[in-house]
Amino acid sequence: MPWLTQLADVARKTGFPVTEVGGWRSRGHGPQPTVEGVVCHHTAGWRDRHVVVAGRPGLRGPLSHIWLEHTGRIWIVAAGRCWHNAPSTSPHHRNGASIGIEAENDGRTPWPQVQLDAYHALCAELCREFDLPASRVCGHKEVNTQKPDPHSVNMNTFRGRVAALLKSPGAPIKQEEDVPEVISLGAGEDQEAPAGGALAVRWHIEYADDPPGHAEDGVAVLAKESRWCIVDGLVKVRGLKPGSEIDLAWSRYSRDGEKFEDDAWRLSVRADANGRVEHSIGGQFGLNSKTQLRLRIINPTDAAAVVEKVTMAKIAMFNR
Ligand SMILES: [Zn+2]
Repeated sequence: MPWLTQLADVARKTGFPVTEVGGWRSRGHGPQPTVEGVVCHHTAGWRDRHVVVAGRPGLRGPLSHIWLEHTGRIWIVAAGRCWHNAPSTSPHHRNGASIGIEAENDGRTPWPQVQLDAYHALCAELCREFDLPASRVCGHKEVNTQKPDPHSVNMNTFRGRVAALLKSPGAPIKQEEDVPEVISLGAGEDQEAPAGGALAVRWHIEYADDPPGHAEDGVAVLAKESRWCIVDGLVKVRGLKPGSEIDLAWSRYSRDGEKFEDDAWRLSVRADANGRVEHSIGGQFGLNSKTQLRLRIINPTDAAAVVEKVTMAKIAMFNR
């Protein structure tokens, strides 16, 4: 088996967005000898595609064939052999016999559903292409006794999803070239995130083409029907103790706001030496007519913090 130059086309069959990293068709530690298995990893960091491509001190890149972004975007890194699993306890999952997927995650943050969906779909398409059963999809922690990744993922459940997709491929999420509805929101006033509590940002300013996208309470973002949302928020907070940690989250609630459903995307961030946080929080996930979305600042510290009025967000909603 030479260079795996079909990987980008295989990834596109998932319906998730795919980006080819320049030079991937000839990147590798020589060609890939065989493909007998797939190894699932987490990267233990964020925005670390460059590490997977180029390597780190003591280990030359490419480290794996694919980098899976937290948004569900699949980045094709290499077509040749990669250094992602040595020593391997399984002959089918050696570097020379397996494809490595490094999924962007710091090793403790809950996985966004969209990333897990992409992970399952990608493994299913790789199994289809290389004629492998779902049982050949393994977590790094299963084929190397020293490794913890991918964290918190039950690999039996994971393989169950892959097997189900192999049996009956679901309708892939369409990548339509449609023009999204875009909502731009601004906080407009300073707001307090109480000590030991949480604040859902109240939006005072909204720019939207269509009927307003947020509820009258100023907090909830509402989709009229089933929508795929790409969100990008910039959060500025002051008044924290230097070095203390708060969480930022895009959270889904029941439509009426009564019931918390989940944090579609959540990050921990640390205050700088001046007690400030300036951080962007992106994400990509579904909303529908039964849910609402809020941007929350969770402040577990014993000091109240101020979410500054310059906090803003842009939400692009696509048809699903
Ligand atoms: Zn690993």
